Amino acid sequence: MNHAVELVNVSKTFRGSKHRDFLAVNDLNLQIRDGEFFSLLGPSGCGKTTTLRMIAGFELPTTGEVYIHGQAMGKRPPFHRPVNTVFQHYALFPHLTVAQNIAFGLEMENLPSAEISDRLSQVLELVKLTEMRDRYPRQLSGGQQQRVALARSLVKQPEVLLFDEPLGALDMKLRKQMQLELKQMQQRIGITFIYVTHDQEEALTMSDRIAIMNQGEIQQVGTPIEIYEYPKTRFVADFIGESNFLTGRVIQINNEQQTVLVDESLPIQIAAEHSLSVGQIVTLVIRPEKITLYPAKSVHIPSWSGLLEERVYIGTDTRYKVKLSPNCYVMVRVQNWHRDDLQRYQPGQQVEVFVSPESIGVLES
Ligand code: ATP
Repeated sequence: MNHAVELVNVSKTFRGSKHRDFLAVNDLNLQIRDGEFFSLLGPSGCGKTTTLRMIAGFELPTTGEVYIHGQAMGKRPPFHRPVNTVFQHYALFPHLTVAQNIAFGLEMENLPSAEISDRLSQVLELVKLTEMRDRYPRQLSGGQQQRVALARSLVKQPEVLLFDEPLGALDMKLRKQMQLELKQMQQRIGITFIYVTHDQEEALTMSDRIAIMNQGEIQQVGTPIEIYEYPKTRFVADFIGESNFLTGRVIQINNEQQTVLVDESLPIQIAAEHSLSVGQIVTLVIRPEKITLYPAKSVHIPSWSGLLEERVYIGTDTRYKVKLSPNCYVMVRVQNWHRDDLQRYQPGQQVEVFVSPESIGVLES
């Protein structure tokens, strides 16, 4: 299969002072499909920008190779690669209009003026800025300026568009609106987008697939659902969303279920699909919103009894801290469906805690 972008054993070492080298990207292997919205997600310093810059050609790998549509990029400079980058600091020319800013790159290439004009109108239409073509950047909102920056890249008709935290400078509401717009635009034009962000919600909302990076390495690649519902490492489970981690020993296995003893008095049933062996130490991953609370002694399904210790109201949800045993606590997140729900559980109250065995993830450790 011909991938839009492929990284094969790519590493990047930066030469530091006093000959101290720093391995920013460590032996990365990654395949990005044609027409895909692909995000590189991870904490600050994990190497995502460096990876993007190696695809763009602003940095060269120390070892390994970057392929774009099957072609090895070698030492090709950025302007000889079929890619274009949209940065967070988009630096529009203040003395040029929207149309002039967008057409600037094409004029530099000395394209015929009829072609420039055609491509300009198409792109203005695409980013919904036709009406604003004669305005200057200072007369535009932040979101509109970001769209001009995007149009400036799109007009060059790259095969792959690279984004380095392009929405970082916008306020939250505008950011969410731009996320949807970008995603819709990508679906309409069908070219490959590679998007760097440290914002997990942004990556989950927009991406077809996500690579989670930490310390220069990829921890997991998958669709948003795979990453959120089936995290493969503790880092991924912790970085994306919130998780309760409970470590225990497998004490029983049968065809339907397996039992993990987390504490002397706390056996937890998990689904049978995990291939574990008796005696093995595992860490269970439970998302706070997968847990249901009930008043004490009100349920007839297998549940755990606990003491509700803390309650924090956060608008859409309420978070509770529940003590299941002397050394074991879980965070629970309950959606605030009705205003009455807010008073239902009080700190100091005994509660029942239920989570379906199928909703419990297992990390082998
Ligand atoms: P952020 O979200 O903060 O931008 P990032 O995940 O994009 O982080 P990179 O910018 O790729 O991370 O940096 C990865 C590591 O490489 C960091 O520790 C950074 O300090 C280091 N680094 C990046 N560029 C250079 C450079 N030119 N020289 C030396 N070290 C560098």
